[in-house]
Amino acid sequence: MRQRIIIIEDERDIVELVRYNFRKEGFEIESFLRGRDGLEYLRRNPVDLVLLDIMLPDEDGFEICKRIRADERLKTLPVIFLTAKSEEMDRVLGLEIGADDYVVKPFSPRELVARVKAVLRRQERVAEKKEVVEAGALRLDTRTQEATVRGKLVELSALEFKLLYFLASHPRHVFDRDRLLDEVWGRDRFVTPRTVDVHIRRLREKIEEQPNHPQFLQTIRGSGYRFSPEIMEEVASG
Ligand code: CA
Repeated sequence: MRQRIIIIEDERDIVELVRYNFRKEGFEIESFLRGRDGLEYLRRNPVDLVLLDIMLPDEDGFEICKRIRADERLKTLPVIFLTAKSEEMDRVLGLEIGADDYVVKPFSPRELVARVKAVLRRQERVAEKKEVVEAGALRLDTRTQEATVRGKLVELSALEFKLLYFLASHPRHVFDRDRLLDEVWGRDRFVTPRTVDVHIRRLREKIEEQPNHPQFLQTIRGSGYRFSPEIMEEVASG
């Protein structure tokens, strides 16, 4: 599903630039010149993120952000401020506003897209972070860092645990190696996509009954890897 963002901004040039670049990146984007119209839209439509200018013709961006945070259904919606002046920036940086990030004008569209993607990924992680993941015969407990398969404890390294936890938290989703490196190894990694293959192989040896015919950790040729809980359930019950 395409992610939908809205921009509330009264400078038409900026709106056009942002619309063009986000559409190119596969986002749906709606724009509003007035804060109140944007807020009205947010209350009626599902939106993944808001780009919010500060100086607007009616209520300013701070006021709009405050209203978003005060709304039970919108309060966790990510907001990125578009700021023009250093005094605006000072207020954005103040704790009371509740923005997720800010970008200073003039900004490069590429940078803005990157910031938006980073905030959306963070949001996804918060939403999906569970203390215990149970999938088929596998159980991962992040509090104790323990993994059990069919009730038996399996010794995993911290990285192996993290990789397995990420995949098992998103069952059936296919992830390519670069995405897995980003999610598990982080940004300052000095590793290659091959590293992912090595760790997957080790994990298979530890958790699969037949590592050469994996049930949990499946290779999707040309795409990457995915975690499959269903087949394991069949195996476990049969
Ligand atoms: Ca403005």
